This record gives sequence, C-alpha cells and structure tokens, in this order.
Amino acid sequence: MADTELRLMAVHAHCDDETITMGGTLATYADRGVKTCVVCCTDGKLATIVDPNMPEETTRPRLAEIREAELREACRILEVDEVEFLRYGDSGMAGTPTNFLLDAFWMAPIDEAVGKIVAQIRRFRPHVVVTYDGNGGYGHPDHIQTHRATLLAVEAARLVPMYKDAGEPWRVEKLYYTAFPRSQFERMVEMAQEAGIDPPFGEANADEMAFLTPDEDVTTTIDCVGVIGRKRDALRAHRSQISEDWPQLSMPDDVLKQFADEYFQLVISRRPAALPETDLFAGITPQG
Ligand SMILES: [Zn+2]
Repeated sequence: MADTELRLMAVHAHCDDETITMGGTLATYADRGVKTCVVCCTDGKLATIVDPNMPEETTRPRLAEIREAELREACRILEVDEVEFLRYGDSGMAGTPTNFLLDAFWMAPIDEAVGKIVAQIRRFRPHVVVTYDGNGGYGHPDHIQTHRATLLAVEAARLVPMYKDAGEPWRVEKLYYTAFPRSQFERMVEMAQEAGIDPPFGEANADEMAFLTPDEDVTTTIDCVGVIGRKRDALRAHRSQISEDWPQLSMPDDVLKQFADEYFQLVISRRPAALPETDLFAGITPQG
C-alpha cells in the first residue's frame, strides 16, 4: 500500500516539555491529519513539585509514574497518536550531584541513547523531527543530552551500516529545534509592564535568558491561535509541574492570542527550503 501519510516526531527530555515548547504545533498537525509521536527520554522524577495538593513525602516516590500519566493525558488532549518513553533517569538541574546518578540520562553512553532514538525513528518513520538546540533550550543536562542524541540519531537512522538491529533505514527530511524568539519575550515583558502586572519569568532581562533564540535564527512560525484552548488544557494536565501562574495560563485571553504562535529553527533539510516558512512540512510530499 502506498505510504501517503505525513508524520511528525518530537523528542523531548521530560514530561511537559512537549506541551510548553510545541503543544499548539502538535495539536495543529493532528488536526491536519498528520500522524504525531512524542518520545520522552527521562522519567522526570527529580523535578520540583508545584501543586500544593501533592505533598512531597507521598508524591516524590511516585513522581515518575505521575508524570507519565500527566504526559499521556496532555497528549490525549493534543491528539498525539503515539507516546514513547525511553525511561532514563532524570539528571536534575545543571551542576547538581544528581547529574552523576547511575541512571541519569546525562551518564548514559551516547551511542546507546542514539540507538534507542534510531529505533524510534525507524519504527515511526517521521518526515519531520523536532528537538532542542545545543543549549537544550535552557542548559538542563537532559535537554542537552536529548539534543545530542537526536541530532546523531537523525543522521544514523538513514545509514544502512549503523544500528543494524534497530530496523530498516529511514531518512528524516527535516530536523528542527524549538525556539523562543527574543523579540517575543521582550514584547511579553513590555505588555506586562504596560498592564501593571508582574513580568513573566520574574525580573530577569533578555540578556540573562539562555533559552531565548536570536530572531535571525528563527525560520518557522506555526499559527496556533485556533488550538490555544487545547494547549492550555494540556499545560494544566501537567499539574505536578505547572501552576495557574504559568504565563500562558495567567494571561488574559486577548493577550494570550498574541502569544499563541510557536517557533522553530530549521537545522537539516534534505529539500531546498524557502525561508521563512509557516509549515514544518513545507516542500515535503509523502511517498505515493
Ligand atoms: Zn525539561
């Protein structure tokens, strides 16, 4: 049978990263009939628990399990077709001793992690893969490791001699990094100041924000206004991690609409790309 379907794979470090960075994009492409898959590399068991109804003593021992259920619920809301867990241990924030725990993703041999993602790519056969930039968005070791392993896996997946036991070779057509344009952040701060409310992310200015992407690196904008309600619901599904003061939950609706779009940086394209673009699949046609 002809393979006429388009497929999008997102590789993330922790449960919630998929919704925060690209929840609107996942919902938008699901609505367009694109098949979607979220791969989550770690169990996220070291994260801060923000929900006051989840006491540390009883929640912490079950946090990995709770976060897995939260991710499944968020993906149900976003209509993601497949959710896969690589089940590495959370490495904790950069510079903490937990980076060196035996099960930490940060400690995992890179070729093993690459092999697991190669197997996911060859199984799901995505045309487009999304992950983080080399700073992992904000310098978290699990995000950096996710970036490294995914970048290498996209290249290895198409090569016959590599990871021979991980399935038939598959060539990913485009690889993107998630992006948060600096100008968007500056606009958010400006609007908060004008409205007399606390700026998002506290008092820090753009120069201190390692997760911001220089505007000139942003290649792709996805219009997510139509699915912003579902993104909000998916954010709320991550209740151990995200509270009601999260910027996209606490903004008034009319302001939120101006910050609904999601941004990406095209890094690998096997087709000539006309940039900037408004579609991750621009230039790609499924095999007829
Ligand atoms: Zn994360």
